[in-house]
Amino acid sequence: MKLEYVYKYPKTLLNKGTGFLSDYSHSLNPYTGCSFGCSYCYVRGMPVSIFRNADWGTWVDIKKSAADIFRKELTKAKTKGPVTIFMSSSTDPYQPIEYKEQVTRSLLEVMAADPPDFLFVQTRSPLVRRDIDLLQRLGEKVRVSITVETDREDIRKHFSPGAPPINARLKTLQLLADAGVPTQAAIAPMLPSSEAFPYLLQSVVHRVCLDDYFMGDGSGGKRTRQLGMEALYKDLDLEEWYHPDAYKIVYERFKQVFPEDQIYVSQKGFEP
Ligand code: SF4
Repeated sequence: MKLEYVYKYPKTLLNKGTGFLSDYSHSLNPYTGCSFGCSYCYVRGMPVSIFRNADWGTWVDIKKSAADIFRKELTKAKTKGPVTIFMSSSTDPYQPIEYKEQVTRSLLEVMAADPPDFLFVQTRSPLVRRDIDLLQRLGEKVRVSITVETDREDIRKHFSPGAPPINARLKTLQLLADAGVPTQAAIAPMLPSSEAFPYLLQSVVHRVCLDDYFMGDGSGGKRTRQLGMEALYKDLDLEEWYHPDAYKIVYERFKQVFPEDQIYVSQKGFEP
């Protein structure tokens, strides 16, 4: 698939934390758009995607001069109160183009020099390992949450064929943990998985967050329904997994392996 990249020169980088992110003072998106193009991505149905006139997953805007703008915004924000940042809410901060552009790295450099009170990094890309040196400088003020929706690569390919393989994500969690960077695995949105899933995660992470469309899409599952997700489950004869109670089965499986206070459900797992 051909991807369109456009350079943009934004005036601001930090957005106020609202809605799902109201526990954060700010959200931070180094890019607009996302080349991973996951089928279940709720951003597909948001104005940024609808008015673009191009399919979600086929375009990415790259924010130029981001670090200079962000440095000033961060300094100013810190004079007004605690600064807690969620990166990112409507893109993945580790787009494949980040290998070359290093927008996210430049923002982390700003934060390593002048740390916010807390930074939550949400990604599914193994590229985050490149920035371990900067993440280490943030100490306990950072948590890296890597999406691992399932342990089944066939399921991953069905629902998000453009995203990185599960094994690469697990390896990245291991590297981050070995480097002392606080981590979690975000089983979000929870996809069909095997009984071995908790054991696989147990070896690389101490904390997991479990979320599904019905709790986590901000509309009780309506947004996801509008994306036609049910059909993708039907294709595989796995409709029983597209149900508000399905997460309870996975929760029980994880309870056999993880301490209960290390299993977070829905929004709790994304709080600062
Ligand atoms: S990686 Fe995140 S932002 Fe990108 S398409 Fe998937 S769910 Fe959406």
